[in-house]
Amino acid sequence: MAFDFDYHVHTTVSYCHEGDLTIDNLLKLAKEKGLKGFAVTDHAHHLYFDNKSAWQYKYITDYNLFLSAMEIGDKKFEDYLNLIANYNESNNENSPKLLIGTEVDVAQNGKAVFNAKYRDKLDVLIGGIHWLPCIKNGLDSKTLLIEFMDFTMMLMENDIDILAHPTRIFRANKMEIPKEVIRPIVMKAKEKGIAIEINSHNYPDPDVQFIRSCIDEGVKLSIGTDTHRIAEFGDFSMQKRILSEAGINDNMLDDVLFTHDNKD
Ligand SMILES: [Zn+2]
Ligand SMILES: [Zn+2]
Repeated sequence: MAFDFDYHVHTTVSYCHEGDLTIDNLLKLAKEKGLKGFAVTDHAHHLYFDNKSAWQYKYITDYNLFLSAMEIGDKKFEDYLNLIANYNESNNENSPKLLIGTEVDVAQNGKAVFNAKYRDKLDVLIGGIHWLPCIKNGLDSKTLLIEFMDFTMMLMENDIDILAHPTRIFRANKMEIPKEVIRPIVMKAKEKGIAIEINSHNYPDPDVQFIRSCIDEGVKLSIGTDTHRIAEFGDFSMQKRILSEAGINDNMLDDVLFTHDNKD
């Protein structure tokens, strides 16, 4: 059913959380809000790098940094997966279900900053662009556009289920979203069976035109609050509003929205 799962939620595992995001707190709130469950999608690279290195994003341009961090990081990643799985085992059947997920970035060599050997253990793998090499070198809009398209296309080659906040990087850098990015991303999502996220963290992303294009091409839309602070969790008011602006009424929701149990 529509809006019974939140497919993008961070916990205290992610350095960027803003407090209170323990799994216990989220489960309690999910129950109060009548959610059937939610996906825990902490940043994979936060399990492989310390807080400072994580934000420097050097592993995006130098994948060897990730390979060097793998041995220790894998252990932390496995602990993370086990923690979520253990909750599901110890919770009773009336408890909201936790989906095991993670949010990955893509490096300049086209590989996800994530150990693909864990792919089969995940209910949902989401991919997002958070940083691009041109940001380090001072932005110009033409380079940003080229890098954005290159990295987005590479990210979508990494077996992700959901493309998170597809155009946020433009807004985050106070730039207009170039309309020409919409069609190639939507067509790639269609080819790969990837859902496009409607993300409500800080500002809605993507816009109505992008969402409309997904609907026209039969690309599923995924509901994700991208919770970093507890007040965001399970609040789908923005997604409901933007879907309505895109001409989707309640009867059509089940046809256009992503659900984890019928993904490819
Ligand atoms: Zn993200
Ligand atoms: Zn996120």
